[in-house]
Amino acid sequence: MFELTQDQKNLQHTVREWAQAELAPRAYDLDKEAQFPTELYLRMNREIGVCAIPFKEEHGGVGLGVLEMSLAIEELARADQTFALSVMVAVATGLTLQTFGSDMQKAKYLPEIVAGRAVGSIAGTEPQAGSWTAGFTTRATKQTDGQWSITGEKAFITNSGADITAYNLICAVTSAPTDPKSKMSLFLVPAGTPGVTIGKSYDKLGWRSSDTHPIYLDGAKVGDEMMVGNEGDGRYIVHKTYQSARCFLSACALGLSQACLDHSIAYAKDRQAFGRTLGGLQLVQKMIADMAVKVETSRLLARQAAMKADQGTASILELAMAKYHCCEMSSEVADLALQVHGGFGFMNDCPISRYLRDTRITRIGDGSSQIQTMIIAKELGLDVTFT
Ligand SMILES: Cc1cc2nc3c(=O)[nH]c(=O)nc-3n(C[C@H](O)[C@H](O)[C@H](O)COP(=O)(O)OP(=O)(O)OC[C@H]3O[C@@H](n4cnc5c(N)ncnc54)[C@H](O)[C@@H]3O)c2cc1C
Repeated sequence: MFELTQDQKNLQHTVREWAQAELAPRAYDLDKEAQFPTELYLRMNREIGVCAIPFKEEHGGVGLGVLEMSLAIEELARADQTFALSVMVAVATGLTLQTFGSDMQKAKYLPEIVAGRAVGSIAGTEPQAGSWTAGFTTRATKQTDGQWSITGEKAFITNSGADITAYNLICAVTSAPTDPKSKMSLFLVPAGTPGVTIGKSYDKLGWRSSDTHPIYLDGAKVGDEMMVGNEGDGRYIVHKTYQSARCFLSACALGLSQACLDHSIAYAKDRQAFGRTLGGLQLVQKMIADMAVKVETSRLLARQAAMKADQGTASILELAMAKYHCCEMSSEVADLALQVHGGFGFMNDCPISRYLRDTRITRIGDGSSQIQTMIIAKELGLDVTFT
């Protein structure tokens, strides 16, 4: 079922070659510098056009699917998960526009995302509410001049303030304050819109070279034409975006897990202990075998979710299981890899310590592990409430 076609293998090979040659050797410095690597992002897209993979040809894309994009993300993450995440978010926002955007929005904003010359963000999370999306308070109010005025604060938003950020997709409440159930809408707010301030970049444990900022909105004005989808559909669209992003985040976690396994096997074959190689010690073999099983089960769930997403049959359960399993496993695999590397694994010179820091957030972002398990339990028919 999961045998890749020759074209898919070729794509995987192309991205792997590029990522191992151009990205992996820079990952240490990128983490230290903690700056989004714009030049590298532009170069990758000029040279191998990764961001174009899942978009329709009419927008400049290659017309492939979630599976091919996931294969590319996995290979990028095997070299540097942080870079893969930045690509993933840009592509996810573009796919949101491709699915829900108006003709004007697609014509104006999509080609640059597809060509990989711009990035965008999707801003749901607020300081007081992340998982609890019903708790968002950023509000868009229709003015007498017909414009929407948006006021509020978004927190931890990836790709929101890079020098090639073209827009932020802002989720805002548009129902009346008296409405018992708040309704949200999604607005495409171009970079540089008056009333929008991009806050200082966060100092993070991992994903240090991804571009993450708070966004402050103080009466930012946009017209009706900047609403993505229909009024009141914001939460639905954000949830849909998160669902397809679950395939990509699963691939991000899987790529890093594979890198941990690659490094651990190589280290165990080389390092001597007790008159033999580390890999000749049965307890080390057990750790590596456990890692391999975790990587393979992650791959099976990630591939199943991506393939079914392309066929339009991916269930909420399958997407949640893939995201939950791949992200939880990547922390476990990185931890085992550190154990295999011993004290060296704890040093910043060793990529494993960065892998452990980077992948930790995959269990929190895009629907935390707790939220995924609640979704899984609900899909299994248990009495779960999200409100
Ligand atoms: C580096 C980084 C990049 C990010 N990028 C983006 C982005 O681009 N766009 C965006 O919108 N957001 C982004 N986020 C935010 C991220 O999606 C949120 O952090 C995440 O959704 C969790 O929300 P929270 O931090 O408010 O935690 P909370 O929702 O406050 O949760 C805190 C803890 O409680 C648990 N919890 C919450 N509710 C329940 C419940 N009902 N039952 C059981 N446990 C529960 C959670 O699992 C978590 O462990 C990013 C965050 C980081 C750190």
